[in-house]
Amino acid sequence: MTFPASIDIPQDVLEIARLLEGAGFEAWCVGGALRDTLLGQPNTDYDIATSARPEQVRGLFKHHVPVGERFGTIAVRTHRRHHEVTTFRKDVETDGRHAVVEFGASLEEDLARRDFTVNAIAYHPLRHEWRDPFEGMHDITTGSLRAVGDAETRFREDYLRILRGLRFTARFGFTIDPVTWQAMLATVDGLKYLSAERVRDEWFKGLRTARSLSEFLRLWRASRAAAVWLPELRGSDAIGQPDAVALPRDPVLLTALFTLDPVAVLNRLKASRAEIARALAMVSGPAAPEGESPLAVRRWLAAVHEAADDLTALWELRHGMAAPWRRTLDGIRQRGEATSRKQLAIAGNDLTALGVAAGPKLGAILDRLLHEVVDNPALNTREQLLALAEKLK
Ligand code: ATP
Ligand code: MG
Repeated sequence: MTFPASIDIPQDVLEIARLLEGAGFEAWCVGGALRDTLLGQPNTDYDIATSARPEQVRGLFKHHVPVGERFGTIAVRTHRRHHEVTTFRKDVETDGRHAVVEFGASLEEDLARRDFTVNAIAYHPLRHEWRDPFEGMHDITTGSLRAVGDAETRFREDYLRILRGLRFTARFGFTIDPVTWQAMLATVDGLKYLSAERVRDEWFKGLRTARSLSEFLRLWRASRAAAVWLPELRGSDAIGQPDAVALPRDPVLLTALFTLDPVAVLNRLKASRAEIARALAMVSGPAAPEGESPLAVRRWLAAVHEAADDLTALWELRHGMAAPWRRTLDGIRQRGEATSRKQLAIAGNDLTALGVAAGPKLGAILDRLLHEVVDNPALNTREQLLALAEKLK
């Protein structure tokens, strides 16, 4: 329960702190990197909280990017990387989605507006002092997730904190303090006020970082966060062994694994077009080839196109073993056997040269050629395809 006498702070963070302190301001390390370091998980992405106002921070650092200046955050660039420097602030108004902040706050006030005790610790990088008004170190030691202050009030100020809490709990193998948990249950309906983007970021980050995916999913279900945003989440018995999923984790693939209708989910979460298209391709094609012969696998590849790797990975996640067609698939690719139009030895312009007019007829001939080549890869030479096309045109 005691803090280390000092911790290793990256050189560039020290430089930023020295410059701020040299100009008469306070500079403290805060946030996730501190928590992770205390948990024994290296993280050098330190955020700095300061008494300097945003315009004063800008004045001190030649290279800076305003990342959230309204909220007092400026990214300061050192020769190595960016670090976020944020002015001490307190919330003056909150509506569950956004906060209006006021500068001129003290470090203690700044820590008091943070979400969880483990995220509300400060360390002075030059004087090696700790500030922990909410006993975050105690909660780090016991593995408890506890809201700063009155949990229900804090969740009503910003409902995203509920989802952040679920994410941190599953990521660190924590237990949610009973009062904090009751407050989550009491306020969870407020999640509906959040923007889809913020919810998606939490869902994706949680899938990427949870130590135990089954615990992450259990928390979403038990808190009823899933009822609000992901009613398509499958039951735990329908999911198999989510904890066998290795890192790095792909959130789109995992959304397809864990939900009944990934396209609907990703649309609701305003995922990117590419992500939605991937999910759509996964649910459209046959989930597996009709056997493991090269012919069956080539036919399947021609049907599912780019979704083949996702479908194979999905099958493997569902069954907890390598897909039986994996070796055949690798062989087909090594031999370069065509399963798509663009892998044919001739292209559309070769057909136009034969006198086929551009249009549906041309497309139909290419499809026919592909069909033949999928069944018999040896046909995929220019001469043979031109001869075949000549008969088909
Ligand atoms: P990670 O970056 O690993 O997800 P983090 O704790 O660093 O975790 P950030 O979103 O980077 O999370 O935020 C940095 C710090 O800002 C947090 O540790 C917390 O103190 C505070 N914070 C972030 N979001 C909120 C919020 N919605 N409400 C209150 N405090 C917050
Ligand atoms: Mg962070």
